[in-house]
Amino acid sequence: MTTMRAMVLTRPGMPLTMRESPLPAPGAGELLIAIAACGVCRTDLHVVDGDLPQPKLPIVPGHEIVGRVAAIGPGVTDFAIGERVGVPWLGATCGHCPYCRDGRENLCDTPLFTGYTRDGGFASHTIADARYCFPLGEDGDDAGIAPWLCAGLIGWRSYRMAAEGGRDRNFALGLYGFGAAAHILAQVAIWQGRRLYAFTRAGDGAAQDFARSLGAVWAGASHEMPPEPLDAAIIFAPVGALVPLALKAVRKGGRVVCGGIHMSDIPAFPYALLWEERKVMSVANLTREDAREFLAIAPKADVHCTVARYPLDRANEALADLRDGRLQGAAVLVP
Ligand SMILES: [Zn+2]
Ligand SMILES: [Zn+2]
Repeated sequence: MTTMRAMVLTRPGMPLTMRESPLPAPGAGELLIAIAACGVCRTDLHVVDGDLPQPKLPIVPGHEIVGRVAAIGPGVTDFAIGERVGVPWLGATCGHCPYCRDGRENLCDTPLFTGYTRDGGFASHTIADARYCFPLGEDGDDAGIAPWLCAGLIGWRSYRMAAEGGRDRNFALGLYGFGAAAHILAQVAIWQGRRLYAFTRAGDGAAQDFARSLGAVWAGASHEMPPEPLDAAIIFAPVGALVPLALKAVRKGGRVVCGGIHMSDIPAFPYALLWEERKVMSVANLTREDAREFLAIAPKADVHCTVARYPLDRANEALADLRDGRLQGAAVLVP
């Protein structure tokens, strides 16, 4: 093959369009990857809708990439042609800013993000910095594990942050918004013996049934109080009004972790909701350490993603279905 296909965003707010171009060669330190599947994440929606500042334009969205190494650039020694690899949101970091030096490369001052500031995976091929690619082994089908690369990794980082609020109790965790990240994380949390509470839009019986089918002990609407106070809550839905609701649902010292990159404004709320050492925090991006941890734990927890497959040229449809809440689990593009 000498050409590649990609779904390209030229201007936020416009539909993606198919572009065919010559197959690029990987530069020093890079891999050319033949994409087998790429998950569609809410962040892609924020890029396409113009909610995030200064994307590279035109941009190929997509940062949940599963593919095989098709060509190896000079200097890369730890990957083989044909090896299955994953490419996540964190595309590159500088390695020398105070955050990188401190083990917090997720907060790097000059990062590159796959599908946002460098081209991503809504394509037949992509070029990636090999240092930020992960070997995936051969277990699990390509589309089924694609959502691990962001929904899984960011979910994992959010979960670790939430769980630091109470290590040794029979932990009660609430998830607000039961989409791709929540349905992966629920399986990990339940496997670890946590009690899981799922909060969805009022009246979304299908999402509540889905959560129960994965082992949630309770599922209800976001404005409802769970039958016991939560030790921690993670908010995956991009809705600021959920922050005071989640604060109301967590016990003293409980944590509310905002797992998304973009959220509507948080309404004013009484200080009493935050009092008694409750914490509101956000999770930004991921580190490679998060990825290594999660990619090791997900197979042990037997995480299975519910996916809806779309051919690459129907990327706009997949985005619309995610925007309108028509999906259960995750959308995945297959070139
Ligand atoms: Zn840095
Ligand atoms: Zn994402």
